[in-house]
Amino acid sequence: MQLRKEQRELIQARIKAAKSIAGNLYSAKFEGIEPEDIKSQRDFENLPFTEKEELRDVYPLGISAVTENKIVRIHSSSGTTGTPIIIPYTKRDVSDWAIMFKRCYEMAGITKRDRIHITPGYGLWTAGIGFQAGCELLGAMAIPMGPGNTDKQIKMMIDLKSTVLCATSSYALLLAEEIARRGVGDKIMLRKGVIGSERWGDKMRRRIASELGVELYDIYGLTEIYGPGIGISCSADEAMHYWDDYIYLEVIDPKTGEVLPDGEIGEIVITTLRKEGAPLIRYRTHDMSRIVPGSCTCQSMYPRIDRIIGRSDDMVKVKGINIYPGQIEDVLKNISGVSSEYQVMIDHLNGKDIMTLFFETEQGVDLRDIEKEVGSEFKMKVGLTIVPKSVSIGELPRSEKKSTRIFDNRY
Ligand code: ZN
Repeated sequence: MQLRKEQRELIQARIKAAKSIAGNLYSAKFEGIEPEDIKSQRDFENLPFTEKEELRDVYPLGISAVTENKIVRIHSSSGTTGTPIIIPYTKRDVSDWAIMFKRCYEMAGITKRDRIHITPGYGLWTAGIGFQAGCELLGAMAIPMGPGNTDKQIKMMIDLKSTVLCATSSYALLLAEEIARRGVGDKIMLRKGVIGSERWGDKMRRRIASELGVELYDIYGLTEIYGPGIGISCSADEAMHYWDDYIYLEVIDPKTGEVLPDGEIGEIVITTLRKEGAPLIRYRTHDMSRIVPGSCTCQSMYPRIDRIIGRSDDMVKVKGINIYPGQIEDVLKNISGVSSEYQVMIDHLNGKDIMTLFFETEQGVDLRDIEKEVGSEFKMKVGLTIVPKSVSIGELPRSEKKSTRIFDNRY
């Protein structure tokens, strides 16, 4: 998707403003790059990426692109290791974020008559307060629960007649199961669920939707770029519309950094168009998805990305084809008699890459047939010939970490 003129002008203005603060991330990063020089798509695509590490390196406030008196709030990303990232927000940033979030609710058919039960956490990280600000701007009633205390959650949900549940997929599932266990489903008035965009499977989705009797919407976002609310799925399908008047989105090959054509799967790279406190230029999210080409049947003109299929760190390249765990899961989940556990070995033998996919098969299934089916499905969906190997249920090691399912023995 090409950068539009007004998007390019917004980016130029942001770089210019950001560079004017001496000693921050941008004054060093964009030294020698004049915003006026970004005239074409190619000029833009020649700008350096911004990596998460760089934001960490300027802890605490070296990312700030405004003078300190303009900062009204900070948020922090929950770094898994060591130093967190601090993101400063101006008044305008806070208000823009609420505008985007309101749009998300509207896209999901939520109105000011709704009562929005917010279970994501409040505090340094961005989730809860974003859901809240969008709700208030919409004019709906916010029920700011935060996470935990299931008893209270369910009591408030019943007494206050919550109509919308905002949650992570795992917490939504927990609540759904608890509501079913207590037999209070008929007292629950929920009609919609807005679920954080962590990766979650179709089986989980169907269970939450049916247990709670709600329509589900995936909301997308990351702390570095406002927080949740920069995009949401619509009623038409599972792709997410994103707000291209606030962000410009590219999909790149995570290994080469090359921008990929619309429709191809790669890593999402986001440039903020209006963010003042911490504008980000070509920020690598490490989320894997694709731009969905064409227009949506819901009539919305906002462009779309597909559901997040994984993290680029989990990607492997075999015979020139990028492969993500999400794609492997997709192939396996549609074949009956196969469980969701798998393991991949990639070897280099006689000058050739060979990928072996071990998967668990239920009892009584013809192994030859099912290996053949997995092989041809994989070839059809991913485009790679593999060696499918069936094993019995329970034979593959169970692991918390998804990345340990793929063993690359080539290097
Ligand atoms: Zn749509």
